Amino acid sequence: MRHLFAAAAAAATLTLPLPALAWRSDGHQTAATITAALIKGTPAEARVKALLGDLTLADAAVWADCAKGIKPDSGYRYPSPGRYASCAPMETPEHIAEMADYVRRNFRQCHPHAGEEDCHQQYHYTDVALQRSRYIEGFAGTSSHDIVGAMQAAIRVLQGQPATAPMDFKSPREALLVLVHLVGDLHEPLHVGTAYLDTQGRYVDPDKTGLDPDSVTTGGNSLHVAGTPLTGPGSLNLHTVWDLVPETFKPRHVDAAWLAQARQVPPDGGSPLDWPARWASESLQQANVAFEGLAFSPKQGANWDVGLPRGYDARADAIKHRQLALAGARLAGLLRTLFPQ
Ligand SMILES: [Zn+2]
Repeated sequence: MRHLFAAAAAAATLTLPLPALAWRSDGHQTAATITAALIKGTPAEARVKALLGDLTLADAAVWADCAKGIKPDSGYRYPSPGRYASCAPMETPEHIAEMADYVRRNFRQCHPHAGEEDCHQQYHYTDVALQRSRYIEGFAGTSSHDIVGAMQAAIRVLQGQPATAPMDFKSPREALLVLVHLVGDLHEPLHVGTAYLDTQGRYVDPDKTGLDPDSVTTGGNSLHVAGTPLTGPGSLNLHTVWDLVPETFKPRHVDAAWLAQARQVPPDGGSPLDWPARWASESLQQANVAFEGLAFSPKQGANWDVGLPRGYDARADAIKHRQLALAGARLAGLLRTLFPQ
């Protein structure tokens, strides 16, 4: 399932990606499991534990997705206890109250445009055109409160500074809960880069021609995989293809070889505030690989059809495996830098 909360999923068709359990919960928890192994025995491990209390890093990795179902129109109630196993650790009255408080402060304060999602849902992605070679805020599909802006705000709070508006992260604990998830999302290529298409299914460049809302493919959500049902069970879009991870990538399969690969990831230098944009630029390059060789039908209703070439799953899995190692290693490096002692 691409969408954590189907009601929210049905609402948005025009602009930006819908609420996603990116990587599903498994991918997020796999990356966090790698992180936990890489910070074991360091001061960062103790600081993370002090902030998260009864939640593990792997629990925390889905907190920001579990919070997505809480809405003002249902009185900020948690809508679906028991529905998502990965959200179970957050389904206590105290944790639900904490998520609801976060949603209250991060719901409309960014003044979403018509058709845009609520603010905290926009924190999970950006939508840079594939024609760009890197992430720069100001490009079509970016905003001050996209995934890069939200991660920078969370890092600031963990450095003891206030969050940058419009993000409202009230404490280092809340900033960490958000950050653990967003590092995972940032390494899902379709949370960063996407195609913009005309009605004939040809690429357009929104930074050259101006952003036409009809050209937005919502991070691949509007790209229906040809040969799958249009809706219901078995229905697939390109975003879902990239959110899914195979059974062998689930957290219990994090083994010595995968950890060794993660330990090979070069450490980042300079200010951590610069790291999210740098990592986004790399994910954008992976998004370009994800779109290689794809052809699109003319637009039908709100969607285009996309045919996946032979061998596409294997190509995608190789990228996912590497991206999960990168996400796990980079979060570990970030936590070690933020919590050196
Ligand atoms: Zn997310």
